[in-house]
Amino acid sequence: MAKQEDIFKNVVSHAKEYGFIFPSSEVYDGLSAVYDYAQNGVELKKNIREYWWKSMVQMNENIVGLDAAILMHPTTWKASGHVDAFNDPLIDNKDSKKRYRADVLVEDYAEKIHQKAQKEIDKAKARFGDAFNEQEFITTNARVIEYLAKEKEIRERLGRSLGAGDLDDVKALIEELEIADPETGSKNWTDVKQFNLMFGTKLGASAENAMDLYLRPETAQGIFVNFLNVQKSGRMKVPFGIAQTGKAFRNEIVARQFIFRMREFEQMEMQFFVRPGEEMKWYEHWKETRLKWHLSLGLGKENYRYHDHEKLAHYANAAADIEFNFPFGFKELEGIHSRTDFDLKAHEEYSGRKLQYFDPELNENYVPYVVETSVGLDRMFLAVFATSLKEETLEDGSTRTVLQLPAVLAPTKAAVLPLVKKDGLPEVSRKIIEDLKWDFNVAYDEKDAVGRRYRRQDALGTPFCITVDHQTLEDETVTIRHRDTMKQDRVKIAELRGIIENEVSMKNWLMKM
Ligand code: ATP
Repeated sequence: MAKQEDIFKNVVSHAKEYGFIFPSSEVYDGLSAVYDYAQNGVELKKNIREYWWKSMVQMNENIVGLDAAILMHPTTWKASGHVDAFNDPLIDNKDSKKRYRADVLVEDYAEKIHQKAQKEIDKAKARFGDAFNEQEFITTNARVIEYLAKEKEIRERLGRSLGAGDLDDVKALIEELEIADPETGSKNWTDVKQFNLMFGTKLGASAENAMDLYLRPETAQGIFVNFLNVQKSGRMKVPFGIAQTGKAFRNEIVARQFIFRMREFEQMEMQFFVRPGEEMKWYEHWKETRLKWHLSLGLGKENYRYHDHEKLAHYANAAADIEFNFPFGFKELEGIHSRTDFDLKAHEEYSGRKLQYFDPELNENYVPYVVETSVGLDRMFLAVFATSLKEETLEDGSTRTVLQLPAVLAPTKAAVLPLVKKDGLPEVSRKIIEDLKWDFNVAYDEKDAVGRRYRRQDALGTPFCITVDHQTLEDETVTIRHRDTMKQDRVKIAELRGIIENEVSMKNWLMKM
């Protein structure tokens, strides 16, 4: 089996070679943790965004959209707590001069212990087959009990010390666990320090009068400051939600995992405003609903898990992550947070304006509580892309690279290929494209032997190849080849639209939720 690092390297190089993702300003050797989405990447990203938007805004009568500006009044970030508390604990290795997030070093260590327990479980599963009772094994096998207890103890202690702002204890934990620099093995660490992640910028032409601004580190605050505008102009009734997708910026301390941790990234967030006291019900609802959305894409149930937070952010009374099995292990893909009335109250206080809702049923005013769902679009991209990239050995012993993207997200839905570049076959192919392109992204390819063209479309994730041959001229039929099974069917040209639609329509996929 290929090593995890090799799989990840392969993902990065495939993304570049096939026009999905390029390093930013590559002619100048790139900019650290900033990436550009190329011709196919931009389509995949757009489709993921749309899949989210439809499920949130179009399918829910009580959720509406918003597109707030990236630049916001600087007091926003004072009120939200970002100026004072949007910090990560950083630690430097004195020998290698490499910088790390102290919490991530400890979490990765805890995850390794978890993996050891998982290995024991997998081994036992393989040994006992159908007779295996996983729950019983976890609670009785001495080694597994020990590993899981250790993992829990470490995570809890980290949560406690971060929660209390006790950075000395985080350092002590790193030393006690003898955590070494992952790249060099050195254990010569500095103290742990806080580092603010916001990018500063200036508004205004002259240096004296310029106003200090921040590039938004999350899209959520644009929703909060517009809460009452949307509620009033849309005549919204609590409970209701506001959804938004857009860029966010964080000066991440360590950003070495491709598009998993970027300095400029895109979020898809929905803030759901509820009656105080009802937030736990809605928190559970959204936790479940969001997982169902992820599962509808068919990337495998085993690739997701919940992680309930020990350490809660300053604004939350409950929080969980949906973690995904990335090529480098389980990591946060989406956060679901019960944010209480923290944000709206803070904006009331700092702005001096009321941000309250009059509830006609209760006949009273209140500041609503908020449940947030927040998923990184780029992380979704990575999850989908990395899981879909497969190296297959075929019956004849040859191999093929296939990007088994969920068809609903594929950048190009079908490629039309004339068998040869003559005899009128290109013209018929173009006619088919003219007809299909109103509904789908369709590509034309006439270069190389048809087998090689199939392989290229497989690597791009195109669900269908439509081949036009001499028989097409006689009976208006073509072959349609399915990417995953490589099965080919002879169908009428007139049937193509229906066949494609059935496999790629957002409706059919979202109905699996
Ligand atoms: P992490 O712990 O990984 O830094 P976070 O808890 O700070 O993430 P949130 O503030 O909850 O993240 O942001 C919501 C979502 O935005 C995350 O679940 C993730 O998908 C995405 N996200 C956050 N930071 C980044 C980043 N630097 N690059 C890409 N996506 C990000």
